[in-house]
Amino acid sequence: MDKDTLEQTRLTLRRFVRERLVPLEKQVADDDKVPDEIRRGFAEMGLFGISIPEEYGGLGLDLAEEVELIFEMGWTSPAFRSMFGSNVGIGSQGILIDGTPEQKETWLPRLASGEVIASFALTEPDAGSDAASLRTRAERQGDHYVINGAKRYITNAPHAGIFTLMARTDPNNKGAGGITAFIVEANSPGLSIGKPDKKMGQRGAHTADVVFDNVKVPVANVIGGKEGQGFKTAMKVLDRGRLHIAALCVGAAERLIHESVAYARERKQFGQPIAEFQLVQAMLADSRTEAYAARCMIREAAGRYAAGENVSMEASCCKYYASEMVGRVADRAVQIHGGAGYMQEYAVERFYRDVRLFRLYEGTSQIQQIVIARQMLRQAEAGIEG
Ligand SMILES: Cc1cc2nc3c(=O)[nH]c(=O)nc-3n(C[C@H](O)[C@H](O)[C@H](O)COP(=O)(O)OP(=O)(O)OC[C@H]3O[C@@H](n4cnc5c(N)ncnc54)[C@H](O)[C@@H]3O)c2cc1C
Repeated sequence: MDKDTLEQTRLTLRRFVRERLVPLEKQVADDDKVPDEIRRGFAEMGLFGISIPEEYGGLGLDLAEEVELIFEMGWTSPAFRSMFGSNVGIGSQGILIDGTPEQKETWLPRLASGEVIASFALTEPDAGSDAASLRTRAERQGDHYVINGAKRYITNAPHAGIFTLMARTDPNNKGAGGITAFIVEANSPGLSIGKPDKKMGQRGAHTADVVFDNVKVPVANVIGGKEGQGFKTAMKVLDRGRLHIAALCVGAAERLIHESVAYARERKQFGQPIAEFQLVQAMLADSRTEAYAARCMIREAAGRYAAGENVSMEASCCKYYASEMVGRVADRAVQIHGGAGYMQEYAVERFYRDVRLFRLYEGTSQIQQIVIARQMLRQAEAGIEG
């Protein structure tokens, strides 16, 4: 996308977020539902297809461009972004990066328009951080596979039309090499969705278990047409996803800072606005500094990703830093609000719970630390200076 069009798109989204979505935040949290007209608004703006190439009906943004839009989305409740987030990222990217031409032609236009929602099904009850140990089994029988197993905490599962599913095709290979990625249609006989999970926050965004009981999937639905590549596909998808989530954290931090500054200027104690106390100013300054640092590092890494560089380590650095950063910013925002920060009437109370998730999914902070350190040690072994 050329620079001017991107800037126009960003400004349109910014207006939509601030004028339409922010006023709906409380309603969405109370009803645990994003209104249908908002879904249509997202579809009209092309947000379901941010990352999908124009030839398939998407906006065709590269990751450097995508993060600029996601910084804007972070300003409001994450439930809104979650509605199209899996189509932009983890649900569609496996097909886009590694899918066959037929798979791309069949699914990408429908994902780009928002007609179909795609979910990413990797985690299982006994396989979370150690995703390569997953046990969902896909057994080849003639021209199809039979799938049995269960997936846990799958975002958008109650709304999904398709799942990008990681399952074990080689029972003799208990590690990553025995895993294959599939496209599974949600209406396949034998596939059932559990009740939506009751979460700490992000009401309006839904996760659930997905159970596979002898679900038949045609051989043509193996992503990329080759067995044993599924874990690699999942990791490529997550690298990209980590920069997207990091950008969302920055947007949320900026909103929390905005709420904090506004409250500090208005609230008076000891005869003056609390914003004039230097101890309060220190909290504001720390939050601004950290949010700015995260924004810069994400732009740098996303730019290099868009230029074709391998930034796996840097993507983990960004996800780790930005998700921990927004946790600290949310904590300070509550502190600056005093007792009011503990009350549901104020947005910071809700954001405090909403942003907690970012340190957990798409790889916990500990997993990001492991990825970063492993890469550092590999580079040292190879004599590469970091
Ligand atoms: C709201 C929500 C939405 C989600 N959406 C999806 C989705 O769409 N698709 C999907 O596939 N998954 C999804 N997940 C799952 C998510 O990715 C996992 O919860 C996450 O990867 C952590 O796995 P776990 O919950 O099993 O925790 P565990 O792996 O059991 O981790 C527990 C603790 O142990 C630590 N730990 C684990 N291993 C190590 C280690 N080697 N060294 C140090 N510490 C370690 C972890 O960091 C953590 O602190 C979602 C989860 C949530 C909560």
